[in-house]
Amino acid sequence: MPSTGFFLLSLTAWSENWLLRWVNPALAYLSDDFGNLRRLMSLGWNRLFWLLALGGLWCLCLLCTRRYGKGAFGSLVRNARKFYLPVLSVVLATASFLTYTKQPFIDHSEKEIDYDAHYDFDYNEHVTYSAITVDAQPSLSRGLFRGTANFTLHNDSGQPQTISFWINPGYTFRSVTANGRAVPFRDLNDDSINQKTIELDIPADENIELIVEYGGFPKEWNIMSLYQGETEISDDYIYLAHQDFSPMPRDFAEGTREQAPLTARITLPDGLRPVLFGTGEVEAKKTENGSTQWVLHDAGWSLILYAGDYISEQIDAAGLNVEFFYSARHQRVMEECRVNDMLKQVFEYCTDHHGPLSFYGDEGMRLIEIGAVGGGYAAGGASVMGEDSFSEAGLKDPLKGAGGSEVMAHEIIHQWWGLDNMVEPVSEADPWSAEGLTVYTTYRLMKELHGADYAQKYYVDVWQSRVADYYQDFYVRNPEFLSALPEQYRADIANSQSTVRRYCEMPLKILKAEKLVGGEEAMDQILSGLFTGETNPSYPYLTWQDFLDACNLSEEDLNLG
Ligand SMILES: [Zn+2]
Repeated sequence: MPSTGFFLLSLTAWSENWLLRWVNPALAYLSDDFGNLRRLMSLGWNRLFWLLALGGLWCLCLLCTRRYGKGAFGSLVRNARKFYLPVLSVVLATASFLTYTKQPFIDHSEKEIDYDAHYDFDYNEHVTYSAITVDAQPSLSRGLFRGTANFTLHNDSGQPQTISFWINPGYTFRSVTANGRAVPFRDLNDDSINQKTIELDIPADENIELIVEYGGFPKEWNIMSLYQGETEISDDYIYLAHQDFSPMPRDFAEGTREQAPLTARITLPDGLRPVLFGTGEVEAKKTENGSTQWVLHDAGWSLILYAGDYISEQIDAAGLNVEFFYSARHQRVMEECRVNDMLKQVFEYCTDHHGPLSFYGDEGMRLIEIGAVGGGYAAGGASVMGEDSFSEAGLKDPLKGAGGSEVMAHEIIHQWWGLDNMVEPVSEADPWSAEGLTVYTTYRLMKELHGADYAQKYYVDVWQSRVADYYQDFYVRNPEFLSALPEQYRADIANSQSTVRRYCEMPLKILKAEKLVGGEEAMDQILSGLFTGETNPSYPYLTWQDFLDACNLSEEDLNLG
């Protein structure tokens, strides 16, 4: 009975606590393509904590074993004469306590996320910087980062000044010098939004070379404690963003009109190739015995670095230079898919029919596969896609496309429908989502490439037969019976129903709308209007109603009969 309770605690009261969950450890997913060092370390820490805690408890139980018919206390006194038992239980209990309280994985950011308070401080108007250079020395086997950052500072006050940096809460400053002289610094340990502040006092010199030695084990933001492992430093993968890579100037700005250069040096084993998120460039400097020294050329106060066994494809499409980075593990599949042609076709079709992506850079765009699942993010000149978009199972999904290359096209089309143009987040039961528009767009692209018969056979016919089955489905016609089923069956049925509705019913409705508005060209105009139109910043989503309004149709008009 106590063990059942203990089991249930893990699933209920402790379910939000990654260290206490022992039956169902907080391992959100395991990466197939990149690294898992950090996830496994965090899992190991959870196991270590329980081993120590239960070991201590066990010693305590041994201490309380009944002796010579004495009571619990008497037995305890008697057993305690075996010197090692009390010592061991105290040592284990202390160690488990320290393992719990001093865990190195998660920071102590304020639970209440308050961006206003975080950015509410005065800038030092006397101090500016004009360049940052970083010498990065990660320890890939231990997941540790170590670096030396050099800031070119200007102090126009003729007085000593106090300035501050933001850094990852898991890091410390080891030493700071200004023009060769040691500078006092204070770690405020004020974790907030996965950053902490370090203040330092710089001398009155007008031009200062400030050298900061820093490093540690990068902590992740505590709101993500159940999804640990995105930040990674390992032989297979690196993901270090902003304050995880180098100290960020907090209360002083760049003195240059353009963004100040941020240049970094990093030596990586040959299996790891760095990619910068954004427009920064990487350059291989010199290669020796299995490793390469890279120079990263970026700008601004921080950078976002990925490194993996990347290979890249570069194409010219829609007047842009599109560079696609993906794991070498997909090389065979990508070649089979003829990923180059597919990228070009998707970028040209979507840019032409819907509009350019808002995150295109001036000259091009970088698309990066990363070690994460679900969604992605994009900003000036770059966009990332979770590795689940490239899974072998996904590439065989007939609802996304006929064959790997067409599924890949579907996943890239999500850059337009789903990422750039956020579609209203809805419940699983509601078919309106980015999938309908993405599937419809994939169909239109394939129709253009392979003709109407092909698109009819591999897209429209597939949707129609699935939807016909769906309408025939006993539980769809008799939903009252569904509620009588055990929960697991109900969830499975609901899941498969929502898949059909999002991937098949919705594109059929869009196809019906296309006919009602007067054909493909008219629909293209409507979609491009929706894609490029202004969205309400407080609710930046495209809704089903927006779509219906743009088509001048009602929901009933699109019923499939
Ligand atoms: Zn999709």
